[in-house]
Amino acid sequence: LLYSFILCCSVAFGQNSSDKNTIIGKKVSDLLAKMTLEEKIGQMTQITLGTFEDKGKPDLVETKLAEGIQKYHIGSILNTPYPYAPTAKGWNDIMTAISKVSNKTRLKIPVLYGIDAIHGASYTQGATLFPQQIGMAATFNTEIVKKGAEISAYETRASSIPWVFSPDLDLPRNPAWSRIWESFGEDVYLTSRMGEAMISGFEGGDIGSKYHVASCMKHFIGYGSTTTGKDRTPSIIPERVLRQFDLPIYQAAIKAGAKSVMISSGEINGTPVHASKYLITDVLKKELGFPGVVVTDWKDIIYLHTRHKVAESNREAVKIAVLAGIDMSMVPENYSFCIDLLDLVNKGEIPMSRIDDAVSRILKMKMELNLFEGTIADSKLYPKFGSPEFIKEAYNAAAESITLLKNKNAVLPLNKNEKILVTGPTANSMVSLNGGWTYTWQGDKTDELAGDKFTILEALQNKAGAANILYTKGADLMLENDQEIENAVTLAKDASKIILCLGEKNYTETPGDISSLYISASQIKLALALSKLNKPIVLVLNEGRPRIISDFEDKMDAVIQCYLPGNEGGRALADILYGDVNPSGRLPYNYPRYPNSLEKYNRKYTESLATDEQNDDAKYQRSYQPQFEFGTGLSYSTFTYANLKIDKTEINATDEIAISIDVTNTGKLAGKESVLLYLSDLYASITPEVKALKRFEKINLAANETKTVHFTLNQKDLQFVNNDLKWVSEKGTFKITIGNLSQQFLLK
Ligand code: BGC
Repeated sequence: LLYSFILCCSVAFGQNSSDKNTIIGKKVSDLLAKMTLEEKIGQMTQITLGTFEDKGKPDLVETKLAEGIQKYHIGSILNTPYPYAPTAKGWNDIMTAISKVSNKTRLKIPVLYGIDAIHGASYTQGATLFPQQIGMAATFNTEIVKKGAEISAYETRASSIPWVFSPDLDLPRNPAWSRIWESFGEDVYLTSRMGEAMISGFEGGDIGSKYHVASCMKHFIGYGSTTTGKDRTPSIIPERVLRQFDLPIYQAAIKAGAKSVMISSGEINGTPVHASKYLITDVLKKELGFPGVVVTDWKDIIYLHTRHKVAESNREAVKIAVLAGIDMSMVPENYSFCIDLLDLVNKGEIPMSRIDDAVSRILKMKMELNLFEGTIADSKLYPKFGSPEFIKEAYNAAAESITLLKNKNAVLPLNKNEKILVTGPTANSMVSLNGGWTYTWQGDKTDELAGDKFTILEALQNKAGAANILYTKGADLMLENDQEIENAVTLAKDASKIILCLGEKNYTETPGDISSLYISASQIKLALALSKLNKPIVLVLNEGRPRIISDFEDKMDAVIQCYLPGNEGGRALADILYGDVNPSGRLPYNYPRYPNSLEKYNRKYTESLATDEQNDDAKYQRSYQPQFEFGTGLSYSTFTYANLKIDKTEINATDEIAISIDVTNTGKLAGKESVLLYLSDLYASITPEVKALKRFEKINLAANETKTVHFTLNQKDLQFVNNDLKWVSEKGTFKITIGNLSQQFLLK
C-alpha cells in the first residue's frame, strides 16, 4: 500500500524513469526478502494450461491452476488453454480465474501470462492481423512496423495479456528453414532496425500502461543458422561471425528496451545455447548488459537431457541451464524443474545468489508491467479493438509488403473488364494468407475463425465482379491430380489472363521441415500445363520461404510475392493487381534459383565470379544468379536516381560522411520507393562482403516529383569484426551504392 502511495505521488509530481527504477528495485528486494525458496523457484517456472493432448478439455484448467499456483507457486503461464483462440472476453475470463487463485496465495504475486502474438493479437478472435514478420520486413518501412506492434500491444492488453513472445530476431542462413517467415529476412541491418521498431511499438517507453506489453527477443542466438535448414538442428557459427552478424541485432533490441529474451533451442558449435553460460551470462547479461528476464524455449531444459544429450538426467539439465543464466523454465515437464532445482539449491550446487538474480528479474518485470495493480482488462477501455482504424493499418502494411518481382510487357495492372482465370491451391484460402501462430499453432483454423475477411479469390471477385473472375482450384498443395489441372486448362481458354496462386501448406517449426526447396511437384505441373496455352500468366506466390520456381519462372509474365500477408492480404493484393495501389515492397532475402546455390546478397567475391572469369560452364555452375536478388521490388512507376553526392572523398576514422541523392518519379502514377544504401569495403584483411545494406528510407513520390534523400554514415558503419573479435575499420577505399549509382571515398 505504501509503495502504491509513493508511486501515485511520484507519477503525479512528474516521476522520472530512474526514480521509478529505484522504487521498483526497492520493492523487488523487499518482496524477495519475504519469499521462501519454494516460492522463488515457483516464480522461475512457466506452465501451459493446455497441450495438444488437453485440447477440448477446458475443465483441466482449474485442476492445473490449483496444482501450479497453490502447490508449486508458479509465476508464469503461456499459450491458450482451449482448442481455438478465445475472444478478448474469453481471455478476460481466463485471467480472472487465474488471478482468483493467485490472490489466495500468501504473497499474492500476480501470474505473468505470455502469448505468441506474433502478427497482431493472433490468439484472440476478432483481433487485427498484420502480415507475418517477413512481410513486415518487405515494407522497408519502420513506421508501419512500429504501428503494427502498437496495435498488437493494445489488442493483447485488451485480452488481459501483458507479455508477447515477439519479435523474432533470427537471421536465417538457409532458405529452407521453416521459420524464415517469422523473421525479418537475411540482413543484419534490416533486422536490427525492424526489431527496434517492433520493440518500441510493443513497449511504448511505458510497458506499464494499459496499451503496452513486454516484448521478448527470440531466439537468442544463432537459431536461424542451422546447417541443414531443418528446425532445431546444429549450427556452426564462428564467434567472429556471430559477433558481426547476430549480436548487433540483440544489442539494438536491448537498447530499444526489450524486457525479455527467449533462448534458442539449437546448438552452436556443439553447445546447446541453453547450456551456454558464455552466451547467456557472459555475453548477454554482462557484456550487453541485458537487465531483463531470460526464458527458455519450450521444454528446453529437459531437452538438454532427452534430445541434446549433454545432461545425464533432468536434475543435471536443470543445474546446467540455471547456472548458465536461465531465469525462467518454459514448460517444466511435470514440475521436475521445481523439484530438482529445490534439491540443487538445498545441496549447495546452485547458489542462492543465482536464484535471487533470476527472481529479481522476474519480479521487476511484473512490477514494470504494473501487474500488482491488476491485469483484467475493462473492455470499455479498448474501444478500438478490431476497429476499422486498426484494420486500415493492417491493410496498409499488407499493401506495402507485397512485392512485384517481374512485370514483363506491363502485363500488370489488370483491366477490370477482362476475363481472368484465378487458379491455384492458395487462391481461396485464409489459412494460406495467415500462416502459423494464427488462432492455433499451425494456423490451421484460420478459415473458420477469420470472420468477415476475404481470400484472394473473394477479394478479386469483389473488385472486378464475379462474372469477370473464373475460378477452379487447379491443384492441391501436395497431391497430384491431373483432373484438376485439366479443369484449369479448360477454363483458361475462356480467360484473357491467368492469375496463378501458388504457395505452401502452412506450418511452423519442425512440422515445416522440408527435404526439397522446390515448390511442390503438383504446382509445378499446373504451372507448366497453363504455360502451354500462351496466355499471360501472373504468378502470385503466397509462401513463408522462397520455394524454387526456376522450372517455370521464365514462362510467367509477372511474378508477385505476397509472403503471408494476413487477413487483409487478399484485399491488398486485389488492389495491387488492378492498379489501385502501386506496389512498393522489396524482397528481404535472396530468392534462390537452384537448390545448391544459396548465396546471400552480401556474399563474398569468390561466390560471384566476375564476368571475365566465367566460361560457359561457370556461367551456370558457378556464377551468382539468384532468381531474384535481395532488395528487388518493382513499381508501376519508374524511379530515377541522380546526383549521388558525398560530402568528403577522404575521411578519418572518426568522421561522419554525409550522402545525398535525388530520386524522381518518372512514371505516371504516384508511388513509394525504398531507397537502399549499400556500402562495400573494397579490400580488407577479412575477405569483404560484396556489399552490405547500411541505410534505407521509404519515400512517397507523386508523378514527376523529385525528393532529395539524405543519409549519414559513421565510423561504426565502416567496421567489421576481425580475428581478435574486435570491431575495426581499415584504411582504404569504400564504395557507396544507391540504385544504379556509386561513389567512392578513402578512409585515411
Ligand atoms: C517456439 C517459440 C514460442 C514457444 C511458445 C516454441 O516452440 O520455438 O518461438 O514462443 O514455443 O509457444
